[in-house]
Amino acid sequence: MKTIELLEQAQPEEKQVFLNEKEKHQEAWQQALSQAVTNPKQLLQALQLDSSLMNEQVLEASNQFRTFVTESFLNRMGKGDPNDPLFKQVWADPLELLEQAGFETDPLDEKSANPVPGLLHKYHGRVLIITNSHCAINCRFCFRRSFPYSDNHFSSKHRQAIFDYLKSDPSIEEVILSGGDPLLLNNARLTELLALFESVGHIKRLRIHSRIPIVLPSRITQGLINCLKRSPLQKIMVIHSNHPQEFNEEVSDAMQMLHQAFPRVLNQSVLLKGINDNAETLISLQNILFEHQIQSYYLHTLDKVKGTGHFDLPLEQALSLYQELQARLPGYMLPRLVTETAGKSEKTLIC
Ligand SMILES: *Cc1c(COP(=O)(O)O)cnc(C)c1O
Ligand code: SF4
Repeated sequence: MKTIELLEQAQPEEKQVFLNEKEKHQEAWQQALSQAVTNPKQLLQALQLDSSLMNEQVLEASNQFRTFVTESFLNRMGKGDPNDPLFKQVWADPLELLEQAGFETDPLDEKSANPVPGLLHKYHGRVLIITNSHCAINCRFCFRRSFPYSDNHFSSKHRQAIFDYLKSDPSIEEVILSGGDPLLLNNARLTELLALFESVGHIKRLRIHSRIPIVLPSRITQGLINCLKRSPLQKIMVIHSNHPQEFNEEVSDAMQMLHQAFPRVLNQSVLLKGINDNAETLISLQNILFEHQIQSYYLHTLDKVKGTGHFDLPLEQALSLYQELQARLPGYMLPRLVTETAGKSEKTLIC
């Protein structure tokens, strides 16, 4: 479809984004993003946590990988609890500064599967587009903290090379928008991307990997849903939730809307020491997902990225925990436990 036709079909709200991009028209979710908490001290204050948690090392860790958390996610944290499972996912812990053997900056060796800037092609039939370099949250355990994004993400500069690559390989049936978080693009830019994929005849499926339905549910607007619904590609959404406490009414509403555009919504989680490394928590998470018609997909072991060692669960413990899940959950609620090893055709976590 041509851009002009899309423009004509666009809802008034999207037209605004199309036309006023340079005039700084902001949607509510964009405003929410600009008000995200980026200062660890402010985070402690908002949660009524002891200011003694703040020190030079926290600042250093937060300088290395910026503290970034939306108010919506923050509002789901318990007050006064330094062990809150949501807080721990975003707190710049001094432990991040410890050097740990085996934890490196590019443990997955992504460089070797990167034929064109902004595109990873590792698995048969599927390519992953590094849609942008940012997320709506900075999860401390993420490999993104050291991913060399600088010129390695989708931009108009690389658009033609990406298009040529997609066209040249008829085995590519699925495009995965990952990131950074692809839903940080505005509706107009997403529409343009979708039109690009639609114009390659052998691409059948569009998959979106996003944590936004969990961390910035206000982004799931009717305008976004309409822009996705319009695409004839088969659509799959993979969200990322690690803990049942990440769900609240706002998130439930966003999930309901997502189902309008995505017949399949899946979830992936990361197994995190001190956050979700017990059977009760993980079982409760699978139940909440099921209630929201979200299919459990992957449970990832931690990627061994520098600065994340304190989240790592020894593989033996991960396996025995997984056996407990297997014993207690129906098969359709059981995520697959996956580990990523450099050079092997298994999984990588990119949200
Ligand atoms: C995760 C990932 C995929 C998708 O793998 P699935 O097993 O189909 O979910 C594809 N390419 C890359 C580079 C990935 O990291
Ligand atoms: S890619 Fe996913 S896990 Fe990593 S910071 Fe972004 S939202 Fe968090």
